[in-house]
Amino acid sequence: MTCLSLIDVCKSYGSIHVLDGVSLAMERKEFIAFLGPSGSGKSTLLRIIAGLETADSGEVWLDGTRIDRLAPGDRGVALVFQQYALYPHMTVRENMAFGLRNAKVPANEITDRIETVAATLEIDRLLDRKPGQLSGGQRQRVAIGRAIVKAPKLFLLDEPLSNLDAALRNRTRVELSQLRQRVDASVIMVTHDQAEAMTLADRIVVMNDRRIQQIGTPMDIYSRPANRFVARFVGSPA
Ligand code: ADP
Ligand code: MG
Repeated sequence: MTCLSLIDVCKSYGSIHVLDGVSLAMERKEFIAFLGPSGSGKSTLLRIIAGLETADSGEVWLDGTRIDRLAPGDRGVALVFQQYALYPHMTVRENMAFGLRNAKVPANEITDRIETVAATLEIDRLLDRKPGQLSGGQRQRVAIGRAIVKAPKLFLLDEPLSNLDAALRNRTRVELSQLRQRVDASVIMVTHDQAEAMTLADRIVVMNDRRIQQIGTPMDIYSRPANRFVARFVGSPA
């Protein structure tokens, strides 16, 4: 069953063309990794899906509903940024509750959801701390937890592991691979780490030059690259 559909999405900033006719159909519960050089429009595309940017043309559908005119909070999508963007003056608990309060979720349900997610991500002992009192890895998990409590249909993760050291990266990678079992959601993750994409993703989308260059399983991308750019980018022997 199709979860997300992008139909011919185009975006320019003034004379800079960032996305030119991006189309994609994603299955429910699929884990898709976006790979591509810096500046190839990966973050812009996630921001368009989440509603933080507006496409110049094209359509975004989620579970049969066209969402590209909806407010970000009404889309059923959660975006976890590169820089965690936690509110520094709020505790972890308040950070996690914020979006739910805005969505008018009842107070007791907010408490329940936060407790459950915090236990799963092992951040339950951090709930009364402020972001400044957390390590980078803890902040990362809080940012992911804040997205999970919203119970989105679609998670968008923009280089979620890029600020972590190697050991923590590995641990968080394992957590991400379990995300689909824990929560009933589909995941798009932008990464510049090919090994990460190859190990985590059901399918990989390679972006360059404003367009999707190839969509395929990690094996497809590696052993049957669609063009020279993809071959060079993923370092395949072809
Ligand atoms: P990526 O995430 O793949 O590195 P981005 O989506 O961040 O790429 O950026 C794609 C292009 O769009 C870059 O050339 C960037 O400079 C430009 N860009 C992104 N956001 C803006 C903005 N708000 N205003 C102007 N240009 C932007
Ligand atoms: Mg980016």
